[in-house]
Amino acid sequence: LFVKVTYTTIHSKGSTGTIAVLQDVTGQEKLDQARREFVANVSHELRTPLTTIKSYLEALEDGALEEPQLAGKFVNVARNETERMIRLVTDLLQLSRLDSKQAILSKVTTDVTEMLEEVADRFSFQLEQRMIAIEIDVEKHVDEIMLDRDRIDQVLDNLVSNAIKYTPEGGHIRIHAGRRESSVLEISVQDNGIGIPRKDLSRIFERFYRVDKARSRNMGGTGLGLSIAREIVKAHGGAIQLESELGQGTRVKFTLPYQQEEAAV
Ligand code: ADP
Repeated sequence: LFVKVTYTTIHSKGSTGTIAVLQDVTGQEKLDQARREFVANVSHELRTPLTTIKSYLEALEDGALEEPQLAGKFVNVARNETERMIRLVTDLLQLSRLDSKQAILSKVTTDVTEMLEEVADRFSFQLEQRMIAIEIDVEKHVDEIMLDRDRIDQVLDNLVSNAIKYTPEGGHIRIHAGRRESSVLEISVQDNGIGIPRKDLSRIFERFYRVDKARSRNMGGTGLGLSIAREIVKAHGGAIQLESELGQGTRVKFTLPYQQEEAAV
């Protein structure tokens, strides 16, 4: 508990008294702390690739430039790190828009099966490379739904890309869509990958929270994918949940409400 105390001295009829006003500022303090942590995280996340780039540039200057093969490798590292910084800044901008409610959703009528098949298509190269099978399963009556296609695509891309990142070769991903009650669409992305330890589950949607920082970085992750997914789903009036069993796999499901006129099946 954080308490702010304000003292006021009062003089009245020759005597003096003091009034103490106690104010509960716990909420404010928590917010300030979250903000400080966020700024520290962003700085650190940007500093790491910048330091790497700097050291590779120095190595080039110190002679690696004379060795074309080595130089090529170093330039490659610098480019990868730059691309990650761009992804990070893009993710941060998107989060800041979603936070400030500036993000206006432009919803269009969307065929769910088609949308899910297109996600799988976008990842077909990566899936093939890692020999991961993908299955799409859409229940009857799912029909069309109004949603912001670009944004929901981003949610799906983040979830599928996580499923690929954290599933060993030869794994399996299943995307399922079904109706919950008549008025809600539920989409889930399930993998049989490395899973998440129970102790991390409650924090997994926090910005920059990762189970294994090194693994996430190696895979090109920014640590913001799930937070962005949650904000987008919330903006649509839905909710997102993650279930996971260590060594067994992970399932992330989110809901999207149908508009009233769509809800009647
Ligand atoms: P990142 O860019 O690190 O993947 P996310 O916000 O998308 O960031 O995810 C946060 C963390 O949650 C990841 O670093 C990883 O530890 C864990 N995670 C997310 N999805 C999965 C999954 N499908 N299987 C296992 N771990 C996952």
